[in-house]
Amino acid sequence: MNRQLSRNFLSSEFRCKCKNPDCDGKVISPSHRLVSVLQTIRDDLGPVIIVSGIRCQQHNERVGGSSGSKHLFGIAADIRCQHVKASKLATYLKSRFPNKYGIAYNASGGTVHIDVRSRSARWSY
Ligand SMILES: [Zn+2]
Repeated sequence: MNRQLSRNFLSSEFRCKCKNPDCDGKVISPSHRLVSVLQTIRDDLGPVIIVSGIRCQQHNERVGGSSGSKHLFGIAADIRCQHVKASKLATYLKSRFPNKYGIAYNASGGTVHIDVRSRSARWSY
C-alpha cells in the first residue's frame, strides 16, 4: 500500500530498501515530524530524494548503520536534493533547524542525514 503522507511524499519513498520479502521494516511508518521536516525542505529547495529512509535490522547492519540507528524507528532519512549540493543542503538544514534534530553531512556519499530526535546533534561521516 502506498499512501500520500504529505503534498510531495509517498510512503513508498521511505520504505526499507532491502530485498527480503520478510522485511519487518514494512510495519514501521515514518514519523509525522520527519515527513513534515522533509516537506519543509521540499518547499524551500525543490525535489528531495530519499536515499535511505526506514531500515529493518538486517538492512541497517548490511549498510553499516549504528546499532541504535534512528532509521530503525522511522525518524531518520538520508537525503539528496535534486537542485542543491549536499554541502549546501547541510548548511541550509543547520540554519533552518537551529539547535534541533540530528544533522550529518556525508561528503563522500553526497547525502545528508536528518533525524527528528528530541535533542540536537551535528556530525559528519
Ligand atoms: Zn528490510
